[in-house]
Amino acid sequence: MVAMGTGETIAAVSTPLGEGAIGIVRISGPRALAILREVFVPRRPGELRPYVLRLGWVVDPEGGRRLDEVLATWMPAGRSYTGEEMAEIQCHGGVAAVRAVLRLVLRGGARMARRGEFTLRAFLHGRLSLAEAEAVLDIIRAPGEAGLEGALRQLGGELRETVEELSLELRRVTAALEASLDFPDEVGEIDREALGLQLEGTAARLRALLSGAEQGRVMREGLRLVLMGRPNVGKSSLLNALLGEERAIVTAVPGTTRDVLEEAVDWHGLPVRLCDTAGLSEGRDAAEALAVARAREAVSGADVVLLVVDGSADMAEAEELLGEVPRGRTVVVVNKGDLCDGLRRDQWRRRLAGWPTVVVSARERWGLAELREQVVELVAARGIRPGESALITRERQRRLVERCLVGVEEAREGLAAGVPADCVAVCLAEAGEALGELLGRNVREEVLEEIFADFCVGK
Ligand code: GDP
Repeated sequence: MVAMGTGETIAAVSTPLGEGAIGIVRISGPRALAILREVFVPRRPGELRPYVLRLGWVVDPEGGRRLDEVLATWMPAGRSYTGEEMAEIQCHGGVAAVRAVLRLVLRGGARMARRGEFTLRAFLHGRLSLAEAEAVLDIIRAPGEAGLEGALRQLGGELRETVEELSLELRRVTAALEASLDFPDEVGEIDREALGLQLEGTAARLRALLSGAEQGRVMREGLRLVLMGRPNVGKSSLLNALLGEERAIVTAVPGTTRDVLEEAVDWHGLPVRLCDTAGLSEGRDAAEALAVARAREAVSGADVVLLVVDGSADMAEAEELLGEVPRGRTVVVVNKGDLCDGLRRDQWRRRLAGWPTVVVSARERWGLAELREQVVELVAARGIRPGESALITRERQRRLVERCLVGVEEAREGLAAGVPADCVAVCLAEAGEALGELLGRNVREEVLEEIFADFCVGK
């Protein structure tokens, strides 16, 4: 277990700051109840019982001023989210009341919680595995329902169960190897073929987990769809049409979209992040050059690139851009289809043969459904399907499953090649360690910090 002090009492506002019906101040640690007692005066006298909401006021112990009318409750250590004694004060929403209450709680001896510290404590007290803690974060961030489903499956422990089963399979093989080492006379020679078959089964399950990882990432983060093309071809208009409302600034002056804009949409269960980039022209001033550099960067990080060309403009010029975009990840969008007659549309299709192509009109808003279909088809070829959840959702998890698979494969090959049993056992131990790390055993402190820094304060 990582050395991290949990003796302090921490507090934070656990709801988004801003106008809302309620704002919750959360307290966790050994002094949670004591602090609640100091600042909370129930309307009716009587002991504060755990899990029971009480109506009352938060009162400044110095001077006796009432700060807010609130509902308050507490939870005993061992039976709360963090595993520690916790208190929660539900104030009226809005910034002022919540801040005033938090200030009082901090004066009472709590310190401000760091990002994700409540969930970190839950992990450190064994209330959640690391994969489950990551799932909590994913639930907060889920861009669409399929992403949410994957996170809920993780939180429900499905990933943990799978990983524990896999660990058990590895331990069984290890035990057989060790038995033959420790008691060669009683156990006899190891049955290399049988053990190899068992490991093959484990490897197949690991591979299945891995193949879902890409799906999991997209469901968790959204498919990154980047619009690129020369200025004035109608990228912003297309973005607006796809979003169904006026978001980006549409102007007739080339090169007005200076920064990368990003919007999230849901395409029949496929969460999509639409990114508009500045036009790819020769940057004339420094700001434009910077925007063009950003656009190139956005393209390199894209899951799918929409190369937008002006259907009414020169075809050869548009063709030049094909060298800038990744084949297999690009859909060419011939925009301003309203300015093309049927003959010209056919010409475009012929010129762009070999590239997924769709003719649309952002202005008249047609061709958009076909555009969505083309994108869905393109990613389906990579095994990504709208609306499907996956167990592995994070790069960290993917890397560990991969590391485990390497160990298992080495052990399997070792068995087949007649490598001594103790060497095979070492490979399996490494594979098992990777699985342990997935659940949060023996995780380095930096890794934990990195994961929990992604959370918001108050979670
Ligand atoms: P961007 O620089 O690529 O983002 O292009 P804009 O979206 O700002 O559009 C540039 C110009 O093309 C504007 O005057 C738009 O009204 C016009 N435009 C965009 N899409 C279409 C379209 O589908 N048909 C026609 N006729 N004009 C369009």
